[in-house]
Amino acid sequence: MTKPVTATIRAYQMGFGDCFLLSFAYDDDSARHILIDFGSTGMPGDTQVSLDDVAADIARECGGALDIVVATHRHKDHISGFATKANGRGSGDVIRGLHPKRVIQPWTEAPEAPEGWEGPAGSTPAHAFARQRASLDDMHAVAQAVVDRLDREGGFNSRWPLADRLRFVGEDNIKNVSAVKNLMTMAGSPEKNIYVYHGCDLDLSAILPNVKVHVLGPPTLKQSETIKTYAKNSADYWLKARQLTGLAATKDVGASKTSMLFPDLKRRDSFRQSKLPTEMRWVAERVDIAEQDQMLGIVTALDNVMNNSSVILLFEAGNKKLLFPGDAQLENWNYALQSALAPLLDDVDLYKVGHHGSLNATPKSMWNRFQKRGKASKPGRLKTVMSTMAGKHGGKNGAPTEVPRIPLVNELKANSTLFNTQDLQPAELCQIITIDLR
Ligand SMILES: [Zn+2]
Repeated sequence: MTKPVTATIRAYQMGFGDCFLLSFAYDDDSARHILIDFGSTGMPGDTQVSLDDVAADIARECGGALDIVVATHRHKDHISGFATKANGRGSGDVIRGLHPKRVIQPWTEAPEAPEGWEGPAGSTPAHAFARQRASLDDMHAVAQAVVDRLDREGGFNSRWPLADRLRFVGEDNIKNVSAVKNLMTMAGSPEKNIYVYHGCDLDLSAILPNVKVHVLGPPTLKQSETIKTYAKNSADYWLKARQLTGLAATKDVGASKTSMLFPDLKRRDSFRQSKLPTEMRWVAERVDIAEQDQMLGIVTALDNVMNNSSVILLFEAGNKKLLFPGDAQLENWNYALQSALAPLLDDVDLYKVGHHGSLNATPKSMWNRFQKRGKASKPGRLKTVMSTMAGKHGGKNGAPTEVPRIPLVNELKANSTLFNTQDLQPAELCQIITIDLR
């Protein structure tokens, strides 16, 4: 049987977002192409690259036919490029026209659970599955409400110092209906959509000969309840001890209370609209700020939960291993790290940096497993690829939550060969990484 000899990764300019074309060249001169995510929450101001340019490049590179599409999770910055247009000329229409043979998504995206369904591998009770689906939909509704409110009260940006952050996180969590529908139908028939979970048997050998694809995440609810929550701090985060304590002291909105996801999202418009006596105005201002904090806490909590539904795929081809974890954060990783699949991580050759380099998506205990980490002179040194845009997410008011997180970036540069989309010139489409599989 034909063997893969080279892997090429095109890491496209997405601003804040992900889009990777993973291509395997085979010894019989054939090739296979896998598109992993295609989305953006906004390009850098000076870029000359559009989603349409990227779609056109993908179509050209794969010679008009994609083998597999992976949508790691349903955040805008991972799927907005799959949106179609009424005139049939959207970037999602181009991808659809490449007729992917399979579309891989997390189990949380599977269409309605059939009556009495036990969930993936009989491990998740149907009611838990339905509840999970419902909470994902609630999240979209809340995100939409937050963004609507920002739109409605467009004039208050200067009075609302957190408005930009609210809008960014809110918009990322709005349901991308067109993209979601396209992903569900672009493979042509429902059995070509594969909804995966940790440890499931993903047999792609007919499409991807001699490449083994391991699914490390997300865990099902039965496997791990913790994907519904997120930890405020952990020794696995890229923080110093002092910063850990600081974060612990902040209010832990939303964590581990998923049964009452948004009990506190109350409107206090009356405070702002009422004609308060001058001496009382400072109170209204503080109420505004408290409310923004609360809203930001809620949308951030749902953002974390959604990230933790990310598919984590490890491609084993020839003598190399390539790891693509979407935006999986610690709670998703924890299950894989304690599982029988964890030793697969020891000799990873290429790591797609989780969640654009955030502090909690490259757990230190995972990073430390990578034996190919090392100085520039190390033979077979680990390669890392990061799609990110600084200044978009986190890190406001001196909080150690900037994306990408600087201590992590420093470590990536020191102990791996880092390819960063942020280093692309305004007219450059992508970083290209080539890996010899022999
Ligand atoms: Zn993302």
